Parts: sequence; C-alpha cells; structure tokens
Amino acid sequence: MHKHKSSININKIANDRVRILFDTALLNEDNRDYAAYCISEMRKISSHHRIKLSRSVKDRFCRKCNSLLVPGETAEVRILKKGKEILYKCNRCGTKKHIITDIKQ
Ligand SMILES: [Zn+2]
Repeated sequence: MHKHKSSININKIANDRVRILFDTALLNEDNRDYAAYCISEMRKISSHHRIKLSRSVKDRFCRKCNSLLVPGETAEVRILKKGKEILYKCNRCGTKKHIITDIKQ
C-alpha cells in the first residue's frame, strides 16, 4: 500500500461516500433495516476517516441502533420547553435523544 500522495483523494471519496450513504438512508426510510445499515456504514467511514458529521445529519439517526429517526414512524417525538427542545425516542431500541432547537446566533 502506498500511503503518500493519495490521502486527499481518499478523503474526498470518503466524504462522498458518507454523503451518499446518508442520502440512501433517507431514500430508504421505509426499508428500516437497510436505512439503519446505511447509517452504520456511514458512521464507520466517518469515524475511520475522522469526518465530522454535521448536526443536521447526527440529529436524524439513533446513536445506539443506527435507526433513522422518522417522527411518528420509527421515533416518538415530544416537543418540550415550548419548542426549544425536542425529545426523540427511538421505537426500535428505546434510546432517547434531546435536540435543542433554541440556538442563539
Ligand atoms: Zn435506537
């Protein structure tokens, strides 16, 4: 394996793969196992290549079972603190996730 020169390309490919896997998961939200598989692959690649996932991506899946969080489908959603906080509960594994929406700029 030659490590020199190709690292930029590999990082670009990894970035593309992360994006494609997330898009594929969203497109396959009805196929829950497949969507979760895409998310888990995406997370493997992102941690391996130290690619930071954006908040909008991280907020969309369960960190425990990789299930895509679809309100009313794969997740129970409760609005807390007058909409400043959203509580997601994964219907697959029961993990709860708080999302703070009250971000001051
Ligand atoms: Zn879960």
